[in-house]
Amino acid sequence: MPDETTHTAEVIIKGIPASPGIAIGPAFLFHKQAPVIREKSIAPEETAAEVARLEQAVARSHKELRKILEFAQSKLGEDKAKIFEAQLMILEDAVLFDSVYGRIRSELKNAEFVVYDEIGKYHRMMLSAKDEYTRERAHDVEDVRNRILRNLQEERLISRLEGSSIIVSQNLTAADTLILSRNDVLGYVTDIGGVTSHTALLARALKIPAVVGARTISQTVRPTDRMIVDGYSGTIILNPSESTLRRLEQKREEFKRFEERLSELRELPAQTLDGHRVELSANVEFEQELEFTRLQGADGIGLYRSEVLLIGKEVFPTEEEQFEQYRLIVEAMYPQRVIIRTFDIGGDKLMVNSTKENNPFLGWRGIRVMLDKPELFLDQLRAILRASTRKNVSVMFPMVSSIKEVRSAKRFVEEAKDQLRKAGIPFDEKIKIGVMVEVPAAAVIAENLAKEVNFLSIGTNDLIQYLLAVDRGNDVVSGLYQEFHPAVLRFLRRIIERGKRKDVWVGMCGEMAGDPLATILLLGLGLDEFSVVPNVLPEIKKIIRSVKYKEAKKIAKHVMTLETEDEVKAYLRGIMKDKFPDIPTD
Ligand code: PEP
Ligand code: MG
Repeated sequence: MPDETTHTAEVIIKGIPASPGIAIGPAFLFHKQAPVIREKSIAPEETAAEVARLEQAVARSHKELRKILEFAQSKLGEDKAKIFEAQLMILEDAVLFDSVYGRIRSELKNAEFVVYDEIGKYHRMMLSAKDEYTRERAHDVEDVRNRILRNLQEERLISRLEGSSIIVSQNLTAADTLILSRNDVLGYVTDIGGVTSHTALLARALKIPAVVGARTISQTVRPTDRMIVDGYSGTIILNPSESTLRRLEQKREEFKRFEERLSELRELPAQTLDGHRVELSANVEFEQELEFTRLQGADGIGLYRSEVLLIGKEVFPTEEEQFEQYRLIVEAMYPQRVIIRTFDIGGDKLMVNSTKENNPFLGWRGIRVMLDKPELFLDQLRAILRASTRKNVSVMFPMVSSIKEVRSAKRFVEEAKDQLRKAGIPFDEKIKIGVMVEVPAAAVIAENLAKEVNFLSIGTNDLIQYLLAVDRGNDVVSGLYQEFHPAVLRFLRRIIERGKRKDVWVGMCGEMAGDPLATILLLGLGLDEFSVVPNVLPEIKKIIRSVKYKEAKKIAKHVMTLETEDEVKAYLRGIMKDKFPDIPTD
Protein backbone atom coordinates (compact mmCIF):
# COMPACT_ATOMS: atom_id res chain seq x y z
CA MET A 1 0.00 0.00 0.00
CA PRO A 2 1.48 3.39 -0.91
CA ASP A 3 1.77 5.77 1.96
CA GLU A 4 -1.10 8.23 1.60
CA THR A 5 0.78 11.09 3.16
CA THR A 6 3.65 11.18 0.69
CA HIS A 7 3.98 11.29 -3.07
CA THR A 8 5.50 8.17 -4.52
CA ALA A 9 6.33 9.30 -8.04
CA GLU A 10 8.66 12.12 -8.92
CA VAL A 11 6.82 15.40 -9.55
CA ILE A 12 8.48 18.33 -11.33
CA ILE A 13 7.18 21.85 -10.78
CA LYS A 14 8.49 25.03 -12.39
CA GLY A 15 8.71 28.31 -10.53
CA ILE A 16 10.81 31.47 -10.74
CA PRO A 17 14.48 31.15 -9.71
CA ALA A 18 14.88 33.63 -6.87
CA SER A 19 18.09 32.75 -5.09
CA PRO A 20 20.82 30.53 -6.54
CA GLY A 21 21.87 27.17 -5.12
CA ILE A 22 20.49 23.67 -4.82
CA ALA A 23 18.73 22.42 -1.68
CA ILE A 24 17.88 18.80 -1.02
CA GLY A 25 15.83 17.82 2.02
CA PRO A 26 12.43 17.31 3.61
CA ALA A 27 9.63 19.83 3.20
CA PHE A 28 8.34 21.84 6.11
CA LEU A 29 4.91 23.28 5.39
CA PHE A 30 4.64 26.71 6.88
CA HIS A 31 0.94 27.48 6.95
CA LYS A 32 -0.22 30.77 8.21
CA GLN A 33 -3.93 31.14 8.69
CA ALA A 34 -5.34 34.38 7.43
CA PRO A 35 -6.87 36.07 10.47
CA VAL A 36 -10.61 35.53 10.81
CA ILE A 37 -12.26 38.88 11.37
CA ARG A 38 -15.77 39.44 12.60
CA GLU A 39 -17.47 42.78 12.58
CA LYS A 40 -18.89 43.48 16.05
CA SER A 41 -20.64 46.50 17.45
CA ILE A 42 -19.54 47.83 20.79
CA ALA A 43 -21.33 50.00 23.32
CA PRO A 44 -20.17 53.63 23.71
CA GLU A 45 -18.85 52.88 27.20
CA GLU A 46 -16.68 50.06 25.77
CA THR A 47 -14.74 52.30 23.39
CA ALA A 48 -12.06 53.28 25.88
CA ALA A 49 -11.26 49.62 26.61
CA GLU A 50 -11.31 48.78 22.89
CA VAL A 51 -8.91 51.60 22.11
CA ALA A 52 -6.65 50.49 24.97
CA ARG A 53 -6.70 46.91 23.67
CA LEU A 54 -5.61 48.13 20.24
CA GLU A 55 -2.93 50.37 21.75
CA GLN A 56 -1.51 47.34 23.52
CA ALA A 57 -1.56 45.25 20.35
CA VAL A 58 0.19 48.04 18.43
CA ALA A 59 2.80 48.41 21.17
CA ARG A 60 3.42 44.67 21.17
CA SER A 61 3.71 44.65 17.35
CA HIS A 62 6.16 47.51 17.65
CA LYS A 63 8.27 45.57 20.12
CA GLU A 64 8.27 42.49 17.88
CA LEU A 65 9.23 44.48 14.82
CA ARG A 66 12.03 46.27 16.64
CA LYS A 67 13.44 42.90 17.64
CA ILE A 68 13.17 41.66 14.08
CA LEU A 69 14.84 44.85 12.83
CA GLU A 70 17.74 44.41 15.23
CA PHE A 71 18.12 40.79 14.24
CA ALA A 72 18.05 41.77 10.56
CA GLN A 73 20.64 44.50 11.12
CA SER A 74 23.02 42.12 12.83
CA LYS A 75 22.48 39.30 10.37
CA LEU A 76 22.11 41.15 7.07
CA GLY A 77 23.43 44.67 7.63
CA GLU A 78 21.72 48.06 7.63
CA ASP A 79 20.82 48.01 3.96
CA LYS A 80 18.71 44.87 3.92
CA ALA A 81 17.19 45.62 7.31
CA LYS A 82 15.48 48.66 5.77
CA ILE A 83 12.52 46.44 4.84
CA PHE A 84 11.67 46.25 8.53
CA GLU A 85 12.21 49.95 9.07
CA ALA A 86 9.54 50.46 6.43
CA GLN A 87 7.19 48.21 8.37
CA LEU A 88 7.87 50.12 11.57
CA MET A 89 7.06 53.32 9.72
CA ILE A 90 3.64 51.93 8.82
CA LEU A 91 3.06 51.17 12.50
CA GLU A 92 4.10 54.71 13.37
CA ASP A 93 1.88 56.33 10.76
CA ALA A 94 -0.10 58.80 12.89
CA VAL A 95 -2.59 59.68 10.16
CA LEU A 96 -3.47 56.06 9.59
CA PHE A 97 -3.89 55.23 13.26
CA ASP A 98 -5.76 58.44 14.04
CA SER A 99 -8.36 57.36 11.57
CA VAL A 100 -8.42 53.79 12.99
CA TYR A 101 -8.95 55.05 16.56
CA GLY A 102 -11.40 57.67 15.28
CA ARG A 103 -13.50 55.01 13.54
CA ILE A 104 -13.63 52.79 16.65
CA ARG A 105 -15.06 55.76 18.54
CA SER A 106 -17.41 57.08 15.86
CA GLU A 107 -18.64 53.83 14.30
CA LEU A 108 -18.60 51.84 17.57
CA LYS A 109 -16.95 48.83 15.92
CA ASN A 110 -14.45 46.35 17.31
CA ALA A 111 -10.74 47.07 16.83
CA GLU A 112 -10.11 43.97 14.66
CA PHE A 113 -12.71 45.02 12.14
CA VAL A 114 -11.56 48.64 11.89
CA VAL A 115 -7.86 47.68 11.60
CA TYR A 116 -8.69 45.10 8.95
CA ASP A 117 -10.86 47.51 7.00
CA GLU A 118 -8.79 50.68 7.27
CA ILE A 119 -5.36 49.19 6.61
CA GLY A 120 -7.02 46.97 4.02
CA LYS A 121 -7.78 50.09 1.95
CA TYR A 122 -4.06 50.88 1.62
CA HIS A 123 -3.31 47.30 0.92
CA ARG A 124 -5.83 47.06 -1.91
CA MET A 125 -4.63 50.29 -3.44
CA MET A 126 -1.06 49.01 -3.55
CA LEU A 127 -2.09 45.59 -4.80
CA SER A 128 -3.83 47.12 -7.79
CA ALA A 129 -0.63 48.86 -8.87
CA LYS A 130 0.60 47.90 -12.30
CA ASP A 131 4.17 47.31 -11.29
CA GLU A 132 5.43 44.29 -9.46
CA TYR A 133 7.51 46.31 -7.03
CA THR A 134 4.58 48.21 -5.50
CA ARG A 135 2.50 45.04 -5.44
CA GLU A 136 5.28 43.33 -3.55
CA ARG A 137 5.49 46.20 -1.08
CA ALA A 138 1.75 45.78 -0.47
CA HIS A 139 2.77 42.65 1.42
CA ASP A 140 4.52 44.85 3.99
CA VAL A 141 1.26 46.63 4.68
CA GLU A 142 -0.57 43.31 4.88
CA ASP A 143 2.09 41.88 7.15
CA VAL A 144 1.85 44.80 9.57
CA ARG A 145 -1.93 44.53 9.58
CA ASN A 146 -1.84 40.81 10.29
CA ARG A 147 0.73 41.30 13.04
CA ILE A 148 -1.58 43.76 14.80
CA LEU A 149 -4.56 41.43 14.30
CA ARG A 150 -2.62 38.47 15.67
CA ASN A 151 -1.67 40.52 18.70
CA LEU A 152 -5.26 41.66 19.16
CA GLN A 153 -6.30 38.03 19.09
CA GLU A 154 -3.28 37.05 21.17
CA GLU A 155 -2.11 34.39 18.75
CA ARG A 156 1.48 33.20 18.50
CA LEU A 157 3.28 31.93 15.43
CA ILE A 158 5.45 28.85 15.50
CA SER A 159 8.84 29.60 14.05
CA ARG A 160 11.01 26.88 15.59
CA LEU A 161 11.65 23.81 13.45
CA GLU A 162 13.10 20.40 14.22
CA GLY A 163 16.12 19.55 12.07
CA SER A 164 16.92 20.92 8.62
CA SER A 165 14.17 21.49 6.11
CA ILE A 166 12.95 23.30 3.05
CA ILE A 167 10.27 25.83 3.92
CA VAL A 168 7.23 25.60 1.67
CA SER A 169 4.56 28.24 2.02
CA GLN A 170 1.84 29.98 0.10
CA ASN A 171 3.67 33.23 0.73
CA LEU A 172 6.40 34.33 3.09
CA THR A 173 6.63 37.79 4.52
CA ALA A 174 10.00 39.42 5.06
CA ALA A 175 9.71 38.74 8.77
CA ASP A 176 8.79 35.06 8.22
CA THR A 177 11.77 34.57 5.92
CA LEU A 178 14.14 36.14 8.39
CA ILE A 179 12.77 34.59 11.58
CA LEU A 180 12.65 31.11 10.04
CA SER A 181 16.30 31.48 9.06
CA ARG A 182 17.20 31.10 12.74
CA ASN A 183 16.60 27.40 12.06
CA ASP A 184 18.58 25.25 9.69
CA VAL A 185 16.68 26.29 6.57
CA LEU A 186 17.91 24.57 3.40
CA GLY A 187 15.67 26.41 0.98
CA TYR A 188 12.53 28.47 0.50
CA VAL A 189 9.67 27.76 -1.88
CA THR A 190 6.54 29.88 -2.23
CA ASP A 191 3.39 29.82 -4.33
CA ILE A 192 3.49 33.51 -5.10
CA GLY A 193 6.11 36.22 -5.43
CA GLY A 194 8.53 37.44 -8.05
CA VAL A 195 12.25 38.09 -8.17
CA THR A 196 11.83 41.36 -6.32
CA SER A 197 9.76 39.77 -3.55
CA HIS A 198 11.04 39.98 -0.01
CA THR A 199 11.52 36.23 0.09
CA ALA A 200 13.74 36.50 -2.97
CA LEU A 201 15.73 39.49 -1.75
CA LEU A 202 16.27 38.07 1.72
CA ALA A 203 16.99 34.54 0.51
CA ARG A 204 19.75 35.95 -1.70
CA ALA A 205 21.12 37.94 1.22
CA LEU A 206 20.99 34.87 3.45
CA LYS A 207 22.53 32.77 0.65
CA ILE A 208 19.73 30.22 0.86
CA PRO A 209 18.40 28.74 -2.41
CA ALA A 210 14.85 29.82 -3.23
CA VAL A 211 12.19 29.38 -5.87
CA VAL A 212 9.15 31.66 -5.81
CA GLY A 213 5.97 31.84 -7.89
CA ALA A 214 5.55 28.05 -7.86
CA ARG A 215 1.74 28.50 -7.99
CA THR A 216 0.12 25.73 -5.92
CA ILE A 217 3.24 24.11 -4.48
CA SER A 218 2.05 24.61 -0.90
CA GLN A 219 -1.00 22.49 -1.67
CA THR A 220 0.90 19.89 -3.66
CA VAL A 221 3.67 19.17 -1.17
CA ARG A 222 2.97 16.94 1.81
CA PRO A 223 4.83 17.27 5.08
CA THR A 224 7.13 14.29 4.72
CA ASP A 225 7.91 14.80 1.05
CA ARG A 226 11.56 14.83 0.15
CA MET A 227 12.28 17.58 -2.31
CA ILE A 228 14.92 19.29 -4.41
CA VAL A 229 14.92 23.05 -4.94
CA ASP A 230 17.01 24.21 -7.84
CA GLY A 231 17.40 27.95 -7.35
CA TYR A 232 19.37 28.26 -10.59
CA SER A 233 16.65 27.02 -12.93
CA GLY A 234 13.57 27.51 -10.74
CA THR A 235 12.77 23.79 -10.76
CA ILE A 236 11.30 21.93 -7.80
CA ILE A 237 11.35 18.15 -7.76
CA LEU A 238 9.19 16.28 -5.28
CA ASN A 239 10.20 12.78 -4.26
CA PRO A 240 13.12 12.61 -6.66
CA SER A 241 14.17 9.23 -7.99
CA GLU A 242 17.60 7.93 -7.04
CA SER A 243 19.02 8.91 -10.41
CA THR A 244 17.59 12.46 -10.23
CA LEU A 245 18.96 12.79 -6.74
CA ARG A 246 22.42 11.76 -7.88
CA ARG A 247 22.27 14.13 -10.86
CA LEU A 248 21.25 17.11 -8.73
CA GLU A 249 23.77 16.31 -6.01
CA GLN A 250 26.42 16.32 -8.67
CA LYS A 251 25.09 19.61 -10.08
CA ARG A 252 25.16 21.08 -6.58
CA GLU A 253 28.80 20.13 -6.16
CA GLU A 254 29.74 21.41 -9.61
CA PHE A 255 28.02 24.74 -9.03
CA LYS A 256 29.62 25.08 -5.64
CA ARG A 257 33.06 24.61 -7.12
CA PHE A 258 32.17 26.86 -10.05
CA GLU A 259 30.94 29.63 -7.75
CA GLU A 260 34.02 29.38 -5.58
CA ARG A 261 36.13 29.89 -8.66
CA LEU A 262 33.94 32.76 -9.83
CA SER A 263 34.14 34.57 -6.52
CA GLU A 264 37.91 34.57 -6.91
CA LEU A 265 37.34 36.80 -9.94
CA ARG A 266 35.65 39.52 -7.91
CA GLU A 267 38.64 41.79 -7.55
CA LEU A 268 40.06 41.12 -10.99
CA PRO A 269 39.48 43.38 -14.01
CA ALA A 270 37.38 42.37 -17.02
CA GLN A 271 40.44 42.06 -19.20
CA THR A 272 41.29 39.67 -22.01
CA LEU A 273 44.35 37.43 -21.99
CA ASP A 274 46.14 39.89 -24.29
CA GLY A 275 45.39 42.89 -22.08
CA HIS A 276 42.29 44.44 -23.67
CA ARG A 277 40.24 45.94 -20.84
CA VAL A 278 36.50 46.47 -20.95
CA GLU A 279 34.12 47.80 -18.34
CA LEU A 280 31.79 45.30 -16.72
CA SER A 281 29.02 47.02 -14.85
CA ALA A 282 25.56 46.20 -13.59
CA ASN A 283 21.94 47.05 -14.33
CA VAL A 284 20.22 48.02 -11.14
CA GLU A 285 16.66 48.94 -10.24
CA PHE A 286 16.42 48.69 -6.48
CA GLU A 287 18.75 49.87 -3.75
CA GLN A 288 18.47 46.41 -2.19
CA GLU A 289 20.56 45.10 -5.11
CA LEU A 290 23.54 47.35 -4.44
CA GLU A 291 25.32 45.17 -1.94
CA PHE A 292 25.00 42.11 -4.15
CA THR A 293 26.19 44.17 -7.13
CA ARG A 294 29.35 45.16 -5.31
CA LEU A 295 29.92 41.60 -4.13
CA GLN A 296 29.66 40.36 -7.69
CA GLY A 297 32.61 42.58 -8.60
CA ALA A 298 30.89 45.19 -10.80
CA ASP A 299 32.92 48.10 -12.17
CA GLY A 300 29.93 50.38 -11.55
CA ILE A 301 26.31 50.76 -12.58
CA GLY A 302 25.80 50.95 -16.34
CA LEU A 303 22.06 51.43 -16.08
CA TYR A 304 20.03 52.66 -13.16
CA ARG A 305 16.40 52.45 -14.24
CA SER A 306 15.17 55.56 -12.44
CA GLU A 307 11.58 54.99 -13.56
CA VAL A 308 11.17 52.43 -10.75
CA LEU A 309 10.55 55.53 -8.64
CA LEU A 310 7.43 56.27 -10.71
CA ILE A 311 5.81 53.00 -11.52
CA GLY A 312 2.48 52.52 -9.83
CA LYS A 313 2.57 56.09 -8.46
CA GLU A 314 0.10 58.84 -9.17
CA VAL A 315 2.53 61.71 -8.86
CA PHE A 316 6.17 62.17 -9.71
CA PRO A 317 8.58 62.14 -6.77
CA THR A 318 9.89 65.59 -5.86
CA GLU A 319 13.41 66.75 -6.70
CA GLU A 320 14.30 66.22 -3.04
CA GLU A 321 12.95 62.65 -2.94
CA GLN A 322 14.78 61.80 -6.13
CA PHE A 323 17.98 63.39 -4.90
CA GLU A 324 17.89 61.26 -1.74
CA GLN A 325 17.50 58.10 -3.78
CA TYR A 326 20.18 58.96 -6.34
CA ARG A 327 22.59 60.04 -3.63
CA LEU A 328 22.12 56.78 -1.80
CA ILE A 329 23.05 54.80 -4.90
CA VAL A 330 25.89 57.05 -5.93
CA GLU A 331 27.41 57.02 -2.43
CA ALA A 332 27.06 53.25 -2.17
CA MET A 333 28.95 52.77 -5.44
CA TYR A 334 31.56 55.53 -5.03
CA PRO A 335 34.18 55.79 -6.52
CA GLN A 336 32.65 53.66 -9.24
CA ARG A 337 30.52 55.23 -11.92
CA VAL A 338 26.72 55.25 -11.84
CA ILE A 339 24.82 55.95 -15.05
CA ILE A 340 21.39 57.27 -14.18
CA ARG A 341 18.91 56.91 -16.98
CA THR A 342 16.25 59.61 -16.99
CA PHE A 343 12.70 58.31 -16.58
CA ASP A 344 11.84 55.77 -19.24
CA ILE A 345 8.14 55.98 -18.61
CA GLY A 346 5.63 54.63 -21.14
CA GLY A 347 5.69 51.38 -23.13
CA ASP A 348 5.07 48.68 -20.55
CA LYS A 349 6.15 50.90 -17.66
CA LEU A 350 3.04 52.83 -16.80
CA MET A 351 2.12 55.09 -13.96
CA VAL A 352 -1.29 54.64 -12.35
CA ASN A 353 -2.74 57.51 -14.33
CA SER A 354 -0.79 57.07 -17.59
CA THR A 355 -2.63 57.96 -20.78
CA LYS A 356 -3.96 54.86 -22.53
CA GLU A 357 -2.45 54.45 -25.98
CA ASN A 358 -3.23 51.87 -28.65
CA ASN A 359 0.40 51.28 -29.34
CA PRO A 360 2.33 52.32 -26.24
CA PHE A 361 5.69 50.98 -27.42
CA LEU A 362 5.46 53.31 -30.41
CA GLY A 363 3.97 56.07 -28.37
CA TRP A 364 4.72 58.58 -25.69
CA ARG A 365 7.73 57.00 -24.09
CA GLY A 366 11.10 57.83 -22.55
CA ILE A 367 12.67 61.08 -23.64
CA ARG A 368 9.51 62.02 -25.57
CA VAL A 369 7.57 62.31 -22.32
CA MET A 370 10.26 64.22 -20.49
CA LEU A 371 10.76 66.74 -23.29
CA ASP A 372 7.04 67.45 -23.14
CA LYS A 373 7.16 67.92 -19.36
CA PRO A 374 9.89 70.51 -18.78
CA GLU A 375 9.19 71.02 -15.09
CA LEU A 376 9.39 67.30 -14.32
CA PHE A 377 12.44 66.88 -16.51
CA LEU A 378 14.21 69.77 -14.78
CA ASP A 379 13.31 68.33 -11.36
CA GLN A 380 14.94 65.07 -12.31
CA LEU A 381 17.99 66.64 -13.93
CA ARG A 382 18.61 68.87 -10.90
CA ALA A 383 18.28 65.83 -8.62
CA ILE A 384 20.80 63.90 -10.74
CA LEU A 385 23.18 66.86 -10.94
CA ARG A 386 23.01 67.41 -7.18
CA ALA A 387 23.93 63.76 -6.68
CA SER A 388 26.96 64.20 -8.99
CA THR A 389 29.26 66.18 -6.70
CA ARG A 390 31.59 63.21 -6.28
CA LYS A 391 32.00 63.15 -10.06
CA ASN A 392 30.97 59.53 -10.46
CA VAL A 393 27.60 60.16 -12.10
CA SER A 394 26.61 60.15 -15.75
CA VAL A 395 23.19 60.83 -17.19
CA MET A 396 21.61 58.92 -20.05
CA PHE A 397 18.50 59.48 -22.17
CA PRO A 398 16.24 56.61 -23.28
CA MET A 399 14.21 56.16 -26.49
CA VAL A 400 16.11 58.74 -28.46
CA SER A 401 15.33 58.73 -32.19
CA SER A 402 16.72 62.04 -33.44
CA ILE A 403 19.50 64.58 -32.98
CA LYS A 404 16.88 67.21 -32.25
CA GLU A 405 15.78 65.30 -29.15
CA VAL A 406 19.35 64.99 -27.90
CA ARG A 407 20.01 68.67 -28.39
CA SER A 408 16.80 69.59 -26.59
CA ALA A 409 17.62 67.24 -23.73
CA LYS A 410 21.10 68.75 -23.48
CA ARG A 411 19.60 72.22 -23.34
CA PHE A 412 17.55 71.08 -20.36
CA VAL A 413 20.73 69.82 -18.68
CA GLU A 414 22.26 73.27 -19.21
CA GLU A 415 19.16 74.94 -17.81
CA ALA A 416 19.18 72.69 -14.74
CA LYS A 417 22.88 73.48 -14.24
CA ASP A 418 22.13 77.20 -14.52
CA GLN A 419 19.39 76.98 -11.92
CA LEU A 420 21.70 75.16 -9.51
CA ARG A 421 24.53 77.61 -10.12
CA LYS A 422 22.23 80.52 -9.36
CA ALA A 423 21.12 78.81 -6.17
CA GLY A 424 24.75 78.14 -5.23
CA ILE A 425 24.20 74.36 -5.17
CA PRO A 426 27.24 72.28 -6.15
CA PHE A 427 27.28 69.67 -8.92
CA ASP A 428 29.70 68.13 -11.40
CA GLU A 429 30.13 70.76 -14.14
CA LYS A 430 31.57 68.09 -16.43
CA ILE A 431 28.90 65.46 -15.92
CA LYS A 432 29.00 62.99 -18.80
CA ILE A 433 25.97 62.62 -21.03
CA GLY A 434 25.01 59.56 -23.02
CA VAL A 435 22.13 58.23 -25.06
CA MET A 436 20.64 54.80 -25.38
CA VAL A 437 20.63 53.38 -28.85
CA GLU A 438 17.44 51.37 -28.81
CA VAL A 439 15.45 52.75 -31.74
CA PRO A 440 16.65 51.69 -35.21
CA ALA A 441 16.76 55.34 -36.31
CA ALA A 442 19.28 56.04 -33.56
CA ALA A 443 21.41 53.15 -34.77
CA VAL A 444 21.38 54.54 -38.30
CA ILE A 445 22.52 57.96 -37.10
CA ALA A 446 24.88 56.59 -34.43
CA GLU A 447 27.79 58.61 -35.78
CA ASN A 448 25.86 61.87 -35.55
CA LEU A 449 24.58 61.00 -32.09
CA ALA A 450 28.11 60.26 -30.99
CA LYS A 451 29.14 63.81 -31.91
CA GLU A 452 26.58 65.13 -29.42
CA VAL A 453 27.39 63.02 -26.38
CA ASN A 454 30.09 61.28 -24.34
CA PHE A 455 28.86 57.72 -24.76
CA LEU A 456 26.33 55.43 -26.41
CA SER A 457 24.68 52.51 -24.65
CA ILE A 458 22.90 49.94 -26.77
CA GLY A 459 19.51 48.87 -25.46
CA THR A 460 19.07 45.57 -27.24
CA ASN A 461 15.80 44.78 -25.47
CA ASP A 462 14.05 47.48 -27.41
CA LEU A 463 16.36 47.66 -30.39
CA ILE A 464 15.59 44.05 -31.28
CA GLN A 465 11.86 44.49 -30.91
CA TYR A 466 11.81 47.60 -33.06
CA LEU A 467 14.24 46.29 -35.65
CA LEU A 468 12.62 42.88 -36.07
CA ALA A 469 9.05 44.11 -35.45
CA VAL A 470 8.61 41.60 -32.63
CA ASP A 471 6.92 42.63 -29.40
CA ARG A 472 9.42 41.86 -26.61
CA GLY A 473 6.66 40.76 -24.26
CA ASN A 474 4.55 38.64 -26.59
CA ASP A 475 4.95 34.88 -26.08
CA VAL A 476 3.33 34.07 -29.42
CA VAL A 477 6.20 35.64 -31.34
CA SER A 478 8.97 35.03 -28.82
CA GLY A 479 10.68 32.63 -31.25
CA LEU A 480 11.13 35.54 -33.64
CA TYR A 481 12.78 37.72 -31.01
CA GLN A 482 16.33 36.89 -31.99
CA GLU A 483 19.42 38.43 -30.47
CA PHE A 484 21.60 36.71 -33.03
CA HIS A 485 19.57 37.66 -36.09
CA PRO A 486 22.14 38.84 -38.66
CA ALA A 487 20.27 42.14 -39.03
CA VAL A 488 20.66 42.77 -35.31
CA LEU A 489 24.35 41.87 -35.45
CA ARG A 490 24.97 44.20 -38.37
CA PHE A 491 23.27 46.98 -36.46
CA LEU A 492 25.42 46.29 -33.42
CA ARG A 493 28.60 46.34 -35.49
CA ARG A 494 27.51 49.60 -37.08
CA ILE A 495 26.70 51.33 -33.80
CA ILE A 496 29.98 50.25 -32.20
CA GLU A 497 32.10 51.22 -35.20
CA ARG A 498 30.39 54.55 -35.76
CA GLY A 499 30.45 55.48 -32.11
CA LYS A 500 34.13 54.74 -31.80
CA ARG A 501 34.88 56.58 -34.98
CA LYS A 502 33.78 59.70 -33.11
CA ASP A 503 35.83 58.76 -30.07
CA VAL A 504 33.03 57.97 -27.69
CA TRP A 505 32.80 54.72 -25.79
CA VAL A 506 30.03 52.31 -26.72
CA GLY A 507 28.38 50.07 -24.16
CA MET A 508 25.40 47.78 -24.00
CA CYS A 509 22.83 47.63 -21.22
CA GLY A 510 20.27 45.40 -22.93
CA GLU A 511 19.94 41.78 -21.77
CA MET A 512 22.16 40.59 -24.60
CA ALA A 513 25.19 42.01 -22.77
CA GLY A 514 24.61 39.38 -20.08
CA ASP A 515 24.12 36.44 -22.42
CA PRO A 516 27.27 34.29 -22.17
CA LEU A 517 26.75 33.10 -25.74
CA ALA A 518 27.14 36.69 -26.95
CA THR A 519 30.15 37.73 -24.86
CA ILE A 520 33.02 36.80 -27.20
CA LEU A 521 31.15 38.16 -30.20
CA LEU A 522 30.42 41.51 -28.52
CA LEU A 523 33.98 41.72 -27.31
CA GLY A 524 35.21 41.05 -30.83
CA LEU A 525 32.90 43.70 -32.25
CA GLY A 526 34.72 46.17 -30.01
CA LEU A 527 32.10 46.81 -27.30
CA ASP A 528 33.69 48.90 -24.54
CA GLU A 529 31.22 48.33 -21.73
CA PHE A 530 28.93 45.46 -20.76
CA SER A 531 26.18 46.31 -18.29
CA VAL A 532 24.49 43.15 -17.07
CA VAL A 533 22.17 41.86 -14.36
CA PRO A 534 24.33 41.33 -11.27
CA ASN A 535 23.65 37.57 -11.21
CA VAL A 536 25.58 36.81 -14.38
CA LEU A 537 28.43 39.24 -13.84
CA PRO A 538 31.15 36.80 -12.68
CA GLU A 539 30.35 34.42 -15.50
CA ILE A 540 30.71 37.14 -18.12
CA LYS A 541 33.95 38.27 -16.49
CA LYS A 542 35.28 34.76 -16.59
CA ILE A 543 34.62 34.52 -20.33
CA ILE A 544 36.25 37.88 -21.03
CA ARG A 545 39.29 36.94 -18.99
CA SER A 546 39.71 33.63 -20.77
CA VAL A 547 39.99 34.81 -24.37
CA LYS A 548 42.34 36.91 -26.43
CA TYR A 549 40.92 40.07 -27.95
CA LYS A 550 42.64 39.11 -31.19
CA GLU A 551 40.81 35.81 -31.19
CA ALA A 552 37.46 37.42 -30.30
CA LYS A 553 37.84 39.78 -33.25
CA LYS A 554 38.41 36.83 -35.56
CA ILE A 555 35.34 35.07 -34.19
CA ALA A 556 33.22 38.21 -34.63
CA LYS A 557 34.47 38.59 -38.18
CA HIS A 558 33.43 35.07 -38.99
CA VAL A 559 30.02 35.49 -37.32
CA MET A 560 29.34 38.48 -39.56
CA THR A 561 29.62 36.22 -42.61
CA LEU A 562 26.87 33.87 -41.37
CA GLU A 563 23.38 34.23 -42.78
CA THR A 564 20.96 32.89 -40.19
CA GLU A 565 20.50 33.08 -36.47
CA ASP A 566 20.76 29.29 -36.25
CA GLU A 567 24.15 29.32 -37.92
CA VAL A 568 25.41 32.05 -35.60
CA LYS A 569 24.22 30.25 -32.49
CA ALA A 570 25.54 26.88 -33.58
CA TYR A 571 28.95 28.40 -34.29
CA LEU A 572 29.09 30.28 -30.98
CA ARG A 573 27.81 27.26 -29.03
CA GLY A 574 30.58 25.18 -30.55
CA ILE A 575 33.15 27.67 -29.29
CA MET A 576 31.57 27.85 -25.85
CA LYS A 577 31.34 24.08 -25.46
CA ASP A 578 34.97 23.85 -26.31
CA LYS A 579 36.23 26.61 -24.05
CA PHE A 580 33.64 26.75 -21.26
CA PRO A 581 31.90 23.40 -20.93
CA ASP A 582 30.57 24.38 -17.49
CA ILE A 583 28.73 27.51 -18.66
CA PRO A 584 25.21 26.73 -19.93
CA THR A 585 24.40 28.52 -23.21
CA ASP A 586 20.91 27.22 -24.03
C1 PEP B 1 16.79 48.07 -23.47
O1 PEP B 1 15.82 48.44 -24.13
O2 PEP B 1 17.63 47.25 -23.87
C2 PEP B 1 16.96 48.57 -22.09
C3 PEP B 1 18.04 48.30 -21.39
O3 PEP B 1 15.95 49.30 -21.56
P1 PEP B 1 14.64 48.68 -20.92
O4 PEP B 1 14.78 47.19 -20.88
O5 PEP B 1 14.53 49.30 -19.57
O6 PEP B 1 13.58 49.14 -21.87
MG1 MG C 1 14.65 50.10 -23.50
